[in-house]
Amino acid sequence: MKKSARVVVIGGGIAGCSTLYHLTQEGWSDVVLVERNDLTSGTTWHSAAQVTNFGMNQTMVGLKSHSINLYKELANDPDHPINYNHADGGIRLANTEEQMQGYRHFASMAKGMGIDFEVIDAQECQRRHPLISTKNLIGGLWDPHDGDIDPYQLCHSLARKARKAGAEVYTDTPVTALEQYKDKTWKVTTENGDIDCDIIVNACGYRVNEVGAMMGVHHPVASMEHQYFLTEDIPEIAQAGHRMPLLRCPMSDYYCRQDKGGLLIGFYEQNCKTWGMDGIDPNFVNALCPDDLERVADVLDGAFERMPALMNAGIRSIVNGPITYTIDGAPLVGKIPGKENAFCIIGLRAGLGEGGGHGWLLAQQIVNGEACYDTWCLDPRRFTAHANVEMTSLKAIEDYQNEFRFHFPHEHRPAARKAKTTSLTPIMAAENAAFTVINGWERVEYIKPSEDFHPSLSFHFDETFDIVAKEIINIRDNVGLCEVNGFNRFEITGLDAENFIDRMFCGNITHKPGRVGLGYLLNDFGMVKSEATIANIPASDRGSTRIWYGSAAASEFHDMDWLTQHINADEDVHIKSLTNDQTILIIAGPKARKVMSACSRDDWSKEAFPWLSVRECFIGFTAATVMSVSFSGELAYEVHVPNSSLYAAYLALSESGKEFGMKIFGSRAVESMRLEKGFLSWKTDLLTEFDPFETGLDRFVNLKRITSSEKLPFKSVLKMAQNRSLSASALIALTPLPMAELH
Ligand SMILES: Cc1cc2nc3c(=O)[nH]c(=O)nc-3n(C[C@H](O)[C@H](O)[C@H](O)COP(=O)(O)OP(=O)(O)OC[C@H]3O[C@@H](n4cnc5c(N)ncnc54)[C@H](O)[C@@H]3O)c2cc1C
Repeated sequence: MKKSARVVVIGGGIAGCSTLYHLTQEGWSDVVLVERNDLTSGTTWHSAAQVTNFGMNQTMVGLKSHSINLYKELANDPDHPINYNHADGGIRLANTEEQMQGYRHFASMAKGMGIDFEVIDAQECQRRHPLISTKNLIGGLWDPHDGDIDPYQLCHSLARKARKAGAEVYTDTPVTALEQYKDKTWKVTTENGDIDCDIIVNACGYRVNEVGAMMGVHHPVASMEHQYFLTEDIPEIAQAGHRMPLLRCPMSDYYCRQDKGGLLIGFYEQNCKTWGMDGIDPNFVNALCPDDLERVADVLDGAFERMPALMNAGIRSIVNGPITYTIDGAPLVGKIPGKENAFCIIGLRAGLGEGGGHGWLLAQQIVNGEACYDTWCLDPRRFTAHANVEMTSLKAIEDYQNEFRFHFPHEHRPAARKAKTTSLTPIMAAENAAFTVINGWERVEYIKPSEDFHPSLSFHFDETFDIVAKEIINIRDNVGLCEVNGFNRFEITGLDAENFIDRMFCGNITHKPGRVGLGYLLNDFGMVKSEATIANIPASDRGSTRIWYGSAAASEFHDMDWLTQHINADEDVHIKSLTNDQTILIIAGPKARKVMSACSRDDWSKEAFPWLSVRECFIGFTAATVMSVSFSGELAYEVHVPNSSLYAAYLALSESGKEFGMKIFGSRAVESMRLEKGFLSWKTDLLTEFDPFETGLDRFVNLKRITSSEKLPFKSVLKMAQNRSLSASALIALTPLPMAELH
């Protein structure tokens, strides 16, 4: 066994094999995979192995398309072809108009990725899948590329190709310990010896937290038991004369594909079960959980009704195995929060279909620092300190029970709520607030007209439209108050803090005491990485001169990683997160100045406190830091207060606001106003797939400053500007070179 390698991938399921293969495709051959038993001996060997193209966003659709194209290539390998039933097609059924609207939405989104889904009626569903009845069916979504693959052959094919490119695979080699050296490289201890390496990848499936514990990390991943059965041959399938398409039913929560002359039917029962919460038997290898068809009886009835031919089919075998889940159902693929040179590809619940694509995007991140798609929806840093296995298990149960029911816009499901609250949460609830969840924080969405108000879920404007409009009108005419909790806030201090900020941002950022600036951070390819406000707070009895860096609520781990990894060894820069310590109260509207004046002795006139100013003051008797900035487009103040005095500040502001008609507004009003104003939102409009010019941020880029220093991490901006007619993502797609060659 090798004594050292550039990367050690731990785990030989689809996640590990795909990562290893794609690392070699990116040009890294000094890479190793270590597997405690045999390849595929975790979940992968018994997967139903359906490969679909459907995804909730463009990154998911794109990565699944990559899987499909890769699997086709592997299936057609002249020396070692593998079994891949490609393009049997698949139908997602619908029995409500809202589901059909959702399918139309997804079909239109996928079209932008070059994938042609089709929305079809009930009769067409039946024509394409002759075993189904049209009873209580409106129609469905047709995915032309759906199919299924042999998981064992797939992983061995990927490993074989990786080996051919120089990688090594060691089976029967359990990893027993991980140690990080001072220089941030790793020692991987296995039962067969140690391997020193630059980078480690956790691809350990349901044993993710055994390996996580070896490096002091608690990954928010939990496992559920999941069952399918295989039937004897069904004569109706033979009569149809073609392979049956895949089927997914959101009414009765089952999926189905053809297997030999019969069907494979998998169930997502309501009475579902977590697995392995109190540890996993070390001998659970190539193993299954005990059958329990009783548990799926409710779902089975729905499947029988939809496919009557099933009732006469004998069951050939039953499979019950662990499947991993995360808090939002999407896997964790990328950098491990708070760790250097450590990545993960975990929490895969549709790993066979997606694994090809996830390994592709992860290898790009490892080798180039970024992938060709924006990978925020997969980024392990999208959850912060509140995320743990206990919470994940509750969300996993909820997700499992709603497996094929997609989230509607503004749908916030109830499991594991109230993870992060402030002293105002019950106050807002008493005001009839509807809450949304942002990075675990309960944030007011809008004020409901009555306690039992429940808007319908759909892709159309709903009953909340007029409610939100009223909140906005009051801000336009009077003044509103909005609590923004969990807003990301770092305090940056040190002798080199200003230089550091200059280096990290692509434009000029003011360092004038008492002034606030907005700026953008770009990645190594000159693409938009983050957006932040920089507030320069002068020294006072509350502290020495300091910079406050404010960015999107979910960006805490992401931005902290990016900033800290760019502090040079000889720089005096200190970054402290205040995200969980401070909350913002926004006062917005033409009468905002009057409200501030009524509860604070400072001069709030335009002259004394102009736009983009910051000052320390008192709101009532509460020490606050106030900025004159606005995300709504109206005159507005951000009142930053420590959480311990949030309620006192709220009382003072509410009292002063009374005579000016101040009302509470929520995040939906903010979203509407910022759209109207054309303000951009991180990870909605600001993506790593676009450079600042494509994003419309020309005025925030100082090309002169950027080209004057070779040390800048975003030296490719100039090149991007010169290539304005061709976006960087297009460049990546067109060039046969690995991304790093783009520099
Ligand atoms: C019943 C069922 C049906 C499914 N159907 C589908 C489907 O139709 N389509 C689909 O896309 N997905 C499906 N899935 C999900 C899919 O199978 C999984 O997402 C996928 O197999 C997960 O792969 P993995 O590589 O992440 O994990 P695993 O396959 O579990 O691989 C992890 C590997 O890590 C190894 N390992 C663990 N600890 C160590 C250690 N300390 N040292 C070295 N190695 C270690 C393990 O031995 C294991 O081989 C299904 C899952 C189940 C349970």
